[in-house]
Amino acid sequence: MNPETCDPRPVIVTGDRPTGPLHLGHYVGSLRNRVALQATHRQFVLVADAQALTDNAQDPDRIRRNILEVALDYLAVGIDPALSTVCVQSALPALAELTQLYLNLVTVARLERNPTVRQEIQARGFGRDIPAGFLCYPVAQAADITAFRATLVPVGEDQAPMIEQTNEIVRRVNRQAGRPLLPEARALIPETGRLPGIDGRAKMSKSQGNAVALSAPPEAIREAVRRMYTDPGHLRVSDPGRVEGNVVFTYLDAFDPDGAAVAELKARYRRGGLGDTAVKARLEAVLDAFLAPLRERRAALAQRPDEVLDLLRDGTKRAQRLTADTLEAVRDGLGVFTLAA
Ligand code: ATP
Ligand code: MG
Repeated sequence: MNPETCDPRPVIVTGDRPTGPLHLGHYVGSLRNRVALQATHRQFVLVADAQALTDNAQDPDRIRRNILEVALDYLAVGIDPALSTVCVQSALPALAELTQLYLNLVTVARLERNPTVRQEIQARGFGRDIPAGFLCYPVAQAADITAFRATLVPVGEDQAPMIEQTNEIVRRVNRQAGRPLLPEARALIPETGRLPGIDGRAKMSKSQGNAVALSAPPEAIREAVRRMYTDPGHLRVSDPGRVEGNVVFTYLDAFDPDGAAVAELKARYRRGGLGDTAVKARLEAVLDAFLAPLRERRAALAQRPDEVLDLLRDGTKRAQRLTADTLEAVRDGLGVFTLAA
């Protein structure tokens, strides 16, 4: 038996698509929890390059380049390779095989009902030309989660339907196997489960051009804050303003360590007499204070890309063994033919 499977700590799996640099939304929705939980859990973090190709098949260079960038973001934000295993999805063939097996347990109608995927299809303007891999990516995520036998998945709100889909597959596999082969997983969604984009759209997203990267230099932070959506009805400083849906306040809520000061600013803004420029100046300072140490750590790590790639290689090797064990168990449970050697 693989000695690694004797580890009694609960298992966490998460991942990020290497479609661009990680941003404030990733931090709030998932990275913050991953950093907090890595000491008490057995954590696997996937650079989900195979999933990124489901809507970027025409641009593999971009995905390849961003693998290292995402790894740098992880390390800069505090994912500790001594506590967490970081691995590359496309180098784990067991995930692809599990996906293939699970696809037979899911209907196309069920996939088409997934509200996050529906919304993403619309945002990407696929029309009727939806890549089949994209429609099926929730099944691939079920493979990712179950391959590590994860029970906890710290994710943003958009991922809740994926965990539901995963658990349906888990129940189906277990029923067919006649034993509890795979554990069900629980989504850990933080209070701010979805950080809006700087344009006020529902979700900050790499693909929507409305993000502030964790690696953003000071000028980029200033520019993003300047462009940020506030209350379009708040024209003069003396006008009363709306705080709800005003992303400057949403970000202050998420990142300003002084909650009492933010509450005071909100009250003044609502009454009238507080201008957008003043609130934005505070947010710029808050974001810069949060991101400056990350930026510094990242710049130092970026000088040593070979060490970062070695970490990915080590983590991926460990994950290969573990995921291959699960694949074998699932093949056995589902009664798939095994050609004896
Ligand atoms: P893409 O546009 O390429 O899909 P993305 O910005 O949506 O990129 P993902 O890599 O799909 O990012 O998401 C990785 C993780 O980060 C998921 O757990 C997701 O829920 C979380 N996440 C991403 N964006 C946000 C956000 N704006 N608010 C909260 N969580 C988020
Ligand atoms: Mg996404």
